[in-house]
Amino acid sequence: MEFDYWWLLGFPLFFALGWLAARIDIKQVVTESRTVPDSYFRGLNFLLNEQPDKALDAFLEVVKLDPETIELHFTLGALFRKRGELDRAIRIHENLLERETLAEDDRLKALVELGQDYLKAGLLDRAEEVFTRLLETPFSGQARRNLLEIFVQEKDWYKAIQAATKLEKQSSRPMNAEIAHFHCELAALDMVKADLSSAQKHLDEALSTHRQCTRANIMLGDLLSTQGKREEAIAAWRLIESQSPTHMVLVVDRMLENFKKLGKLEEGLDWLKSLLTRHPSLDMFNTLYHAVMESRGAEAAYQLARDELRRNPSLHALERLAEAELISAPENRREVIQNAKSLIQRHVQRLTRYHCASCGFKASQFFWRCPACGRWDGFDPARHEE
Ligand SMILES: [Zn+2]
Repeated sequence: MEFDYWWLLGFPLFFALGWLAARIDIKQVVTESRTVPDSYFRGLNFLLNEQPDKALDAFLEVVKLDPETIELHFTLGALFRKRGELDRAIRIHENLLERETLAEDDRLKALVELGQDYLKAGLLDRAEEVFTRLLETPFSGQARRNLLEIFVQEKDWYKAIQAATKLEKQSSRPMNAEIAHFHCELAALDMVKADLSSAQKHLDEALSTHRQCTRANIMLGDLLSTQGKREEAIAAWRLIESQSPTHMVLVVDRMLENFKKLGKLEEGLDWLKSLLTRHPSLDMFNTLYHAVMESRGAEAAYQLARDELRRNPSLHALERLAEAELISAPENRREVIQNAKSLIQRHVQRLTRYHCASCGFKASQFFWRCPACGRWDGFDPARHEE
């Protein structure tokens, strides 16, 4: 077969066409990038360098040059909201929504953003209205999550239960722990009004929704104790050890009080001592120490603190040891011990805090819901020395 040399001439032509196509593409990219103002890239650069204030100024310049850039309006709105300039964020999103030419997708997106502005500004009625409108749209999941947040902030626990139940069905994310808390909140309101039967009903619902709800058992014990049913109250509180031993610290004071009223303080002290060997805890040790000091005297309290210091060394135990020693110390040594005790006490107060496991927020008191990130059960009830 004879080789046709003539088609070799096609090679340069193919190369030339490829080169031309590449040139056209590059030219197009360069032309497009030239139409984007420099301020846009400067803004992006500031954002990447975590300088939102400077990014904001750069983006504002772009918007002045080209007021039609929808995406940039969303970026600006989000930046204003992040900086806490909520009136400006609201104005941007409201202006977007007023545009008649706005595409449906962008309109819904602007509504979501506006709802979040209202929520952050504490304008809960307006936020609720916006997110309710979004329930029948592709943004329904986000709308329901925000509605739940609104109902929690409004302390509208019935609506919160409804919203969380629907959210659970929609997202298949378990919400039973949160729902149990909402029932506990309702029970707490009933207990304030002394409507004990309604409180009992809500606590039963909390436990049937979430069997591990320690808060419900704590409150159940309170409810029984209020009615003078002390043995039953102690039994309800004891169940918490099998749910979450660290939560026992929240009830040991009340338990000892009830043991005392039943004339069984010694039994209560022995029980607390054995609980502490199973689950060491600074605060439970404190409770035991004070109760032992009151009922068995300074020498017994001193021995307790000394044993604790050996077993679980902590500033807490050292402070209690100094306290017990101070009582029986001779006059000439009292001042030194008192000074040491005060010094330790100041450190203990500074170092011992409750922590949110979710966001790291620290507080001197325990919360069922973190005031910083809003997570339920985020706080560990056991305080730790840092
Ligand atoms: Zn938190």
